[in-house]
Amino acid sequence: MGTAFEERLSIIEAELRRARGDGAVPQVIAVSKTQPAEVIEEALKSGHRLFGENRVQEAEAKWPELRARYAGVELHLIGALQSNKAEEAVALFDVIQVVDRRKLVDALVAASAKLGRRPVCYVQVNIGEEEQKAGCAPGEVEELVAYARDVGLDVRGVMCIPPADAEPGLFFALMANLRKRLGLEWLSMGMSGDYREAARFGATHVRIGTALFGARA
Ligand SMILES: *Cc1c(COP(=O)(O)O)cnc(C)c1O
Repeated sequence: MGTAFEERLSIIEAELRRARGDGAVPQVIAVSKTQPAEVIEEALKSGHRLFGENRVQEAEAKWPELRARYAGVELHLIGALQSNKAEEAVALFDVIQVVDRRKLVDALVAASAKLGRRPVCYVQVNIGEEEQKAGCAPGEVEELVAYARDVGLDVRGVMCIPPADAEPGLFFALMANLRKRLGLEWLSMGMSGDYREAARFGATHVRIGTALFGARA
């Protein structure tokens, strides 16, 4: 019998496969924010290598040591990033999913040049056009992607967190269109409550915390 993590992951992957229905399975980013290193280690021991964290500082405290012991980790930043933390983020993360403004693009490009590391980036889209939410307005994504590429950022995808109080399907469909129109490879959407729906609309990555690790403390 596998560990709790392995069992949960295999159930989720089966559901994702069924929801997609085309043989493709979205990659599961295990969102390990707030989880202690021992819990993350159980997932690493089972062979999982794809993780997401939402805070640079928290990730800095946990991941350098884990990475030193487990090869092949791919770490995604999925929470807000301030320009003045760009260097720490570039040093630690393989994929930065939260690029949403020119100032941050510039800071990431400068940090990449300085550190000689070039993380893959996704543009975060405020797909519900919510007042308080991070992300680039849907109508400005194309321009931001063009700018980011112009100055040398490796933009490969889009990411969203749909409005909490609405059916996500419409927003997932808008994101799928956006990704197609921009010719981008990756589409990060879907969390514990809506990953099946996200898969149905073509997510390539889902970000799952609670359904894999249990409730956060
Ligand atoms: C916490 C978080 C998740 C995972 O949420 P769950 O509901 O626990 O699966 C996904 N995406 C982002 C951006 C998050 O901050």
